Amino acid sequence: MNSAVCLLERASEKYASRTAVQDEDISLTYAEYRRISRAIGTAFLRMDGARPVIVYLPKSTHALTCFMGAMYSGAPYIPVDAHIPMRRLEKIIAGLAPCYIVTDENLIANLRECDTSEARVCLYSELSSAEADDALVDKALSRVIDTDPIYVMFTSGSTGSPKGVTIPHRGILDYAEWVVSTFEFNENTVMANQAPFYFDNSTFDIYGCMRCGGKLVLTPETLFMFPLKLPQFLDEHDITSIFWVPTVMINIANSGVLSDYTLPKLKNVAFCGEVMPNKQLNIWRKALPHCSYANLYGPTEITDVCCYYKVDKEFGDADPLPIGKACENMRVLILTEDGREAPVNEAGELCVIGTGVALGYWNAPEISAKAFVQNPLNPFYSERMYRTGDLAYFNEDGLIMFIGRKDNQIKHKGNRIELGEIETAAMCVEGVENACAIFDSNKQEIVLFVETKGTLPLRRFNVELKKYIPQYMLPSMLIPMEKLPHTANDKIDRVTLRKTLE
Ligand code: AMP
Repeated sequence: MNSAVCLLERASEKYASRTAVQDEDISLTYAEYRRISRAIGTAFLRMDGARPVIVYLPKSTHALTCFMGAMYSGAPYIPVDAHIPMRRLEKIIAGLAPCYIVTDENLIANLRECDTSEARVCLYSELSSAEADDALVDKALSRVIDTDPIYVMFTSGSTGSPKGVTIPHRGILDYAEWVVSTFEFNENTVMANQAPFYFDNSTFDIYGCMRCGGKLVLTPETLFMFPLKLPQFLDEHDITSIFWVPTVMINIANSGVLSDYTLPKLKNVAFCGEVMPNKQLNIWRKALPHCSYANLYGPTEITDVCCYYKVDKEFGDADPLPIGKACENMRVLILTEDGREAPVNEAGELCVIGTGVALGYWNAPEISAKAFVQNPLNPFYSERMYRTGDLAYFNEDGLIMFIGRKDNQIKHKGNRIELGEIETAAMCVEGVENACAIFDSNKQEIVLFVETKGTLPLRRFNVELKKYIPQYMLPSMLIPMEKLPHTANDKIDRVTLRKTLE
């Protein structure tokens, strides 16, 4: 079987009665997980056949069975935030149509404000109560090849529309294999998930657990607002492994709560998504010295992770942490502007080749062609390479060190944001003639400069902006100007604007 859903097939054969996933309300064994997912796959096949499935549900076991259900029908799934602005969802639907949207009785009312004419809206409760037709599902699965898309995950796009990163089944199959062997997972592994499902860090948890027959516990999202309570949750649920964003790890370290716990069951602490400062990592290491720690790196475009560093020595609080070396089946190149391999200690763009590289951005050949290119070091055959836009270098020990971004993409509280997407949304607000978003790294906040004749109170402005962009992209400060400054070649002068914040 070439579909990643074979991981669920195998786990449900070997570990049928063991708990596969659990949220606050529901716990599913591997056999139940498979049965419900097959029922959902059958329902899709009986409706309009295999079509991309947008899963518009809260993070839950229900959402997971929908992902698997899409795969059983032979189609990719598209996880979206339950708080997604309707204008953003419309753009996603338009790019995927014709497609399904799966939702529940609570969220369906929001869709009234959304143009869903090109999508078929389905209720989870109806899909999951269908009777599975195994012959129908098996036939659909037999047509899937491992270069087919497993999911499309939307990330912020600089032109204002989110980009649909399209990942193949092979990416996830190889990734799950790497996760299990690198972290020595087995059927006794218990993972506490943090990453939202529309963020690809969640694939570590979902497929890592499924590959080894472990248990995936969906940590209630509200707990992440209360770092003091998280170690208690890990303790109570006998968690053995976590893969969380540094923002959460930092909040826990700074709260001082770690010194109250020993967490003897916890073995693996991995993190990814932004820079992890050694200052806070050292607090974790001191409080929980029996755990192993790993810094993983990767953008959504390469199946979550392409390099990693298992922390194997002491670091000073101010030292940078390596992002390490390439994962299995991945190759990392650091290329100079003119396409040469950068020598040791020289910065270049981090570029990636391997089975995890995305198929491209869904329905966007032009932006795909810019990011996914031929490896300039290989003139012999076609070899696709993803240009991350991140700057990095190899140190003397052969480890990759992360420097930062080449462009206007930022990481804010673990979320990837293109400042251009905020600017495009701002231009949709009445009275705004031009806009420029700047990230103030000292204060860790987004500042929006707007060219306008009128006055715009921040709160009212953000109510408008929320129709287009998610909460985490909203600016903390709004600076109205009669005219934004321009450079000699008539671009907005970001340098001058940034200086006004100093
Ligand atoms: P995303 O697509 O949301 O996973 O964001 C990918 C971007 O996050 C990368 O291109 C990096 O800029 C940043 N990133 C991911 N992992 C790390 C890490 N371990 N250290 C520093 N930055 C990271």
